[in-house]
Amino acid sequence: MAELEGLEFGKSDFVLLDEVKMEQFMENLKLRFEKGRIYTFIGEVVVSVNPYRLMEVYGQDVIDAYRGRELYENPPHLYAVADAAYKAMKRQAKDTCIVISGESGAGKTEASKYIMQYIAAITNPHQRADVESVKNVLLKSNCVLEAFGNAKTNRNDNSSRFGKYMDINFNFNGDPTGGHINNYLLEKSRVVQQQQGERNFHSFYQLLRGSSEDVRRSLHLKNDPADYLYTREGAGSVTFINDRCSHKAVLSALKVIGFSEEEISSIYRILAAILLLGNMRFESDGESVRVLGVDTLEHLAELTSTETADVSRSLLYRAVATGGGEVILKGHSQTDACFGRDAFAKSLYERLFGWIVGRINTVIEVKDYDPVLHGKNTVIGVLDIYGFEIFDNNSFEQFCINYCNEKLQQLFIELILRQEQEEYEREGVTWQHIDYFNNQIIVDLVEQAHKGIMSIVDEACLGVGSITDTICLESMNTKLAHHPHYTSRKLSPTDKSMEFHRHFRIRHYAGDVTYSIEGFLDKNKDPLFQDFKRLMYNSADPVLREMWPDGQMSITEVTKRPLTAACLFKTSIVALVDNLACKVPYYVRCIKPNDMKSPVLFDAARCQHQVAYLGLLENVRVRRAGFAYRQPYARFLQRYKMTCEYTWPNHMMGSDRLAVEAIITQHGFHDDVAYGQTKLFVRTPRSLFTLEQERAALIPILVLFLQKVWRGALARRRCRWMRAVYSIMGCYRRYKVKAHFWEVERRFAGVRSMPDYGGGVEWPSPPAALAHFHSITKTLHRRWRARQMVKNIAPSVMAEVRAKVAALTVLAGERKDWGCGRIWERDYLGSVRDSPQSSCDFLRVSKELRARDQFSQVLFSGRCRKVNRFNKNTERCLLITDTHIYKLDQKKQFKVLKKVPLDDVSGLSVTSGADQMVALHTSSQDDVLLCLQGGELRPLHDRVGELVGTLVDHFTRGRNTPLPVKVCSPVLQVHMRGQAQECYRGDQGRPDTP
Ligand code: ADP
Ligand code: MG
Repeated sequence: MAELEGLEFGKSDFVLLDEVKMEQFMENLKLRFEKGRIYTFIGEVVVSVNPYRLMEVYGQDVIDAYRGRELYENPPHLYAVADAAYKAMKRQAKDTCIVISGESGAGKTEASKYIMQYIAAITNPHQRADVESVKNVLLKSNCVLEAFGNAKTNRNDNSSRFGKYMDINFNFNGDPTGGHINNYLLEKSRVVQQQQGERNFHSFYQLLRGSSEDVRRSLHLKNDPADYLYTREGAGSVTFINDRCSHKAVLSALKVIGFSEEEISSIYRILAAILLLGNMRFESDGESVRVLGVDTLEHLAELTSTETADVSRSLLYRAVATGGGEVILKGHSQTDACFGRDAFAKSLYERLFGWIVGRINTVIEVKDYDPVLHGKNTVIGVLDIYGFEIFDNNSFEQFCINYCNEKLQQLFIELILRQEQEEYEREGVTWQHIDYFNNQIIVDLVEQAHKGIMSIVDEACLGVGSITDTICLESMNTKLAHHPHYTSRKLSPTDKSMEFHRHFRIRHYAGDVTYSIEGFLDKNKDPLFQDFKRLMYNSADPVLREMWPDGQMSITEVTKRPLTAACLFKTSIVALVDNLACKVPYYVRCIKPNDMKSPVLFDAARCQHQVAYLGLLENVRVRRAGFAYRQPYARFLQRYKMTCEYTWPNHMMGSDRLAVEAIITQHGFHDDVAYGQTKLFVRTPRSLFTLEQERAALIPILVLFLQKVWRGALARRRCRWMRAVYSIMGCYRRYKVKAHFWEVERRFAGVRSMPDYGGGVEWPSPPAALAHFHSITKTLHRRWRARQMVKNIAPSVMAEVRAKVAALTVLAGERKDWGCGRIWERDYLGSVRDSPQSSCDFLRVSKELRARDQFSQVLFSGRCRKVNRFNKNTERCLLITDTHIYKLDQKKQFKVLKKVPLDDVSGLSVTSGADQMVALHTSSQDDVLLCLQGGELRPLHDRVGELVGTLVDHFTRGRNTPLPVKVCSPVLQVHMRGQAQECYRGDQGRPDTP
């Protein structure tokens, strides 16, 4: 705070003054005003001096700087108070109010607007449309209310002529959800008469100067305010007000708020009717009174949607019910007619204003609010009420307004001064008593029952006969003769500033005000002939009808005497004060630096007077002597317990007070606090600020902690779920496995006795977990089946089976026909079925060779064609034994043409085709190349498979050496006499080729 602004700008908080004396106070105020620092704190109170110029301190950057900050973190500003009120409301869910006081022209209305703007700017970060529209209406309502309720006075070009208290409702989120406007005592006498140099309400000038030619014509209006009696006084006054622009703004604001076209048109018709009423003249011929200017009468009827005759009758006559229930018309005197006309004009305007406020309220009222659903609804109230007024001629209105200010001062004293002192006493905190002026005595002077001025005036109004203002004054003089704050010329005859029988003076807390009793009784009675009420109620304009519900009473109905204006005002102000008293108050005290509206002039005497009567000096004293902040121990503890290890999360001490002491001790704030009975008092905001900062720093950690615990709980729960899921899944899987086993067992139970050993039994499909096991089992079963089948093969066919298996191993998929399906006889040359003519010869030769070469078995014999290295082929016979390979010539009695030891054979190559070409590779690189041929009787036998199978089986079983077999097509790689040669399918060598 003070540190943020250099000392050249003075002290930013009057509490920091070296000495609390008027002199120092004024010096500081003046210095700050001259340096353009219009705001200064007294603790939480903001003192504002009207700068009378545009200040660059209301921009978005400034709003951002104040948003969410503590009061003492920034230089003094309205925003700081607005934020404090908002924060208090949000943090503690308490209703708060901002009371703006000061005399007329001190800047109250401007302040209230800035406060509203600030609140609007910092709320609704999510831009919710409904909240935005509430904000919009709240802001726009100002413009409309100012047009209809403000006027140029000699003190202020935009003086509020009514009191305004606006409640803004917030949801638990802190976003505005609605509001309500209370208006107090509109100065309606201004409608018909203004003091010299002043104007009527802005709305009239805006209508005359701002509306279009067409609209004006339809309203039978001219554009010069000087043409109308009610606006003539202010017509020529020079102001900074631009009525034309304002008119546009008001029209658009009315639309934004939600006034319909018809309603807006009704509003302007009523204004026009008032202006025309003002110009209405009466003429008396001694007997009766009549209206001058029938045109005006007709226009009036048109504007109010009534009959001309009815309007004329209401203006000139009064319906009176006689004792017998009869109704007679009583003609007005010319004076009565004028009086009635003015009263009608005033009432029309007052009701119009009240209706507009009510209409705005229906738009912004909180709708569909349910505390259970929407959380606690809190309120910030902003009070902008007319300031203390001392005019040259002070009448009933000033009396009311000043009474209102007395009441508000009482509230201020009540809350800031007396309660404060009383609280210290109650709490047993040592404290030095401060004297201050308690204005209760003045409040009593005005409002006390029977003895107070209001009572005396009311009594005079009630009295029968012609009790005049003067008689009333006499009565006051008698009853209040000894009151220290009341005087009159009669009571102090030497005081020439008052007139006999006319003036009385009240010594208000803000200064002496001399009131003129003239008109008091009338204004208090506020009479309006019933005829006008009935006239308006019977209007065809629904808006007018709505404004005059009391017009529906019949003439003969006995009516209660209406409450007097003073009584109504008092009731509303008492209600207002009660309303404010239950809220946490924040104060803005406005000071008017001069009466010239000058931005440079600091009228020291004027200011000092205001400082004195606003009780600012006492305020500083109380503040300095006192403690900025207090809170019940439990609440304090609740808020700051996380800042101290002994109190977090719960303390183990005897009482909350001890726990609070622990927090204070830990922070070293012992000198800055006092311990009351139930509350802790903190002297400087700084200590609190430190605590707040620490709290703010810890909150995220606590939130994290809570999140951690909660997340942990969630995770554990999920874990338990997952475990359950897995155990269920496990059980199910085990069941599936078992079920599979059972099924396999069932299906394969009798395989041993089945002819195919279970080859045709279908396997149940296994669960995924058993896939590998399943394939192993299937293989096992297959092997077992094979074993069972092999066991049953007769030894005589075993060799053939083996040879076929060997052939299958090397040829499967390579050769189409390898003779699997037929019986392998092997020794075809010796077979009578194959070679009936030559078998005898061959068997003989074979026997000779067996004896000579010592072989034990014939592996293969058959006819073939030999292919030589020139690819020529000749018919030959082939005999393979377990020792040799022989090439024989059948034609020469099976003469051995070539003999190769079987040990020399290193491999076999065959083609895949039907040519049956076979190459027997030898280690000496002189391969035997030939094409096998079928037998004489079975020429289509393909015997390659048989030869290959027999040889491979013999080599692997008999010799334990593998015989490599190559299936090639169409080229066979061979060696002839050591030379590598390629041999194509020897089709040309096949004699039997068809
Ligand atoms: P009040 O409501 O107290 O009678 P207003 O708020 O209407 O007084 O202020 C009177 C005039 O003073 C305004 O019309 C405006 O010209 C000027 N004024 C008041 N406060 C400020 C401000 N903060 N900045 C600039 N001008 C201001
Ligand atoms: Mg004002």
